[in-house]
Amino acid sequence: MKLWLEGLWTLLFPPKCVLCGDILQPQETDLCRRCRTGTEIYKNFRKRIPFVAKWRALWYYEGDVRFSLLRFKFRGKRSYAESYGRLLAMRIAEEFPEGYDLITWVPVSKRRKHRRGYDQVELLAAAVAAELGQTAVSTLIKHRDNPPQSGITGMAQRKANVLNVYRIADPQTVKGKRILLLDDILTTGATVSECARVLMTAGAKEVYCAAVAANSHER
Ligand SMILES: [Zn+2]
Repeated sequence: MKLWLEGLWTLLFPPKCVLCGDILQPQETDLCRRCRTGTEIYKNFRKRIPFVAKWRALWYYEGDVRFSLLRFKFRGKRSYAESYGRLLAMRIAEEFPEGYDLITWVPVSKRRKHRRGYDQVELLAAAVAAELGQTAVSTLIKHRDNPPQSGITGMAQRKANVLNVYRIADPQTVKGKRILLLDDILTTGATVSECARVLMTAGAKEVYCAAVAANSHER
């Protein structure tokens, strides 16, 4: 883009904080100063998620974080993937020093992707991978459309709702690999656990998980 056009663009659509929506100062990226310093970093990882060797999240799924993710998921704010991607990649680099062989994501079904116009977690995975100098690899296919997990309460019910809705795209891609599975929101962990189960069944060595936000669980 020509420089003057870029200037005009910034004037018309000034970059905003992905969490609170405030207009960013010229020296700020992704987050305003208040959100950068005031948003609590996720720390509680005691919850064990079956089939997942280790998991991490950036923030607690509450307040501005929750509203931001809802805009990302349902209000067409696909550009947030870039910001989340930069911030989550930084966290991943710190939290997974043991490394992993490939980055993949929890996919939506073809139908939902078509209806929404994008798979928000695929965008997130692409942004995270690009930031870490890698490429996100598609390993899972959601071949059945189940009711959204957000409308279902109770761990057992959520587990049942995701059972057998994912399958492996190509077992050769995951065999013997340590896989970093990305998702946007981790609530009970039922979805990532089911994805990890499918990956492990296909011969993955280990599955790690990273998400933008997670429920507070017994904080
Ligand atoms: Zn903010």
